[in-house]
Amino acid sequence: MRLSATLPDKLANSLAVITAILTTLLAEISSSQALEVQVEPKNPRLGDTLSVVVKLDRGETSNLPTVKLKNQTYKTFTIGSDRYRVLLPTTPLDKPGNWSMEVKNEGEVKKLTVKVANRTFPLQRINLPPGKAGASATPKERAAVKAFKELVTPEQFWNGAFIKPNRGRISSVFGVRRYYNGKFAQDYYHRGVDYAGGLGSPVVAPAAGKVVLVGKEAQGFRVHGNVVGVDHGQGVVSIFMHLNSIKVKEGDFVKPGEIIGTIGSTGAATGPHLHWGLYVQGQSIDPASWRDRGWE
Ligand SMILES: [Zn+2]
Repeated sequence: MRLSATLPDKLANSLAVITAILTTLLAEISSSQALEVQVEPKNPRLGDTLSVVVKLDRGETSNLPTVKLKNQTYKTFTIGSDRYRVLLPTTPLDKPGNWSMEVKNEGEVKKLTVKVANRTFPLQRINLPPGKAGASATPKERAAVKAFKELVTPEQFWNGAFIKPNRGRISSVFGVRRYYNGKFAQDYYHRGVDYAGGLGSPVVAPAAGKVVLVGKEAQGFRVHGNVVGVDHGQGVVSIFMHLNSIKVKEGDFVKPGEIIGTIGSTGAATGPHLHWGLYVQGQSIDPASWRDRGWE
């Protein structure tokens, strides 16, 4: 036989329910104020880098806020006492439109939509004789370059706008799409900018960073040729390909303007030029906005 609850029990239960409701309400109020998110640029186009800055009302957190975009979750980095940031890539292979983003911190969630506009990239038609597919990377080369591009280190080495890595004119812009023998190459886009500086002309670091990749054609870097990779930190890395000479070694810290090598035509290059690729979280993005304004 079940005994009915005494009056004090009923009162205690009611109080517990009221307390629970109030706690939930307060949590909702504070969560709607606690996460402040700012995405830049205001009107991004394919190839742009997105800067996502998260500001927390209550100051520091032991858990870094995370940002989910295109089904991938990224950690932010501390950039101030109550500010956190992550830089994210958009590429010519992405679909333009409204992208949903989810910012999370300690159970608080903020959902927002980022409108990424389309952009037309130049087209190139390449005709290759049958059986001439060009050089392909050796397994060692492919693995070393892949690991380099995916580096995400917490320190920020760069500061502000990047400078040109070479004085030569730009012979190929970022994002060029190709047709091979009349067939559109779905996965191809020019993952960098080419500078047509003369053979032996200096290649300088566009921003500060740590040299983390040095590869030589003689050691199997068949496509990249003599190559240098610089880690600018927080998922931002630069690759310099087809060099004639290399003036740095792995572990060196370089300052903006410091010579890292000279222009050459090593690897899969038809003539002397520098290919500079700038990667964010493993994806090649347009370096133009980094040269014009950069990120603090
Ligand atoms: Zn190139």
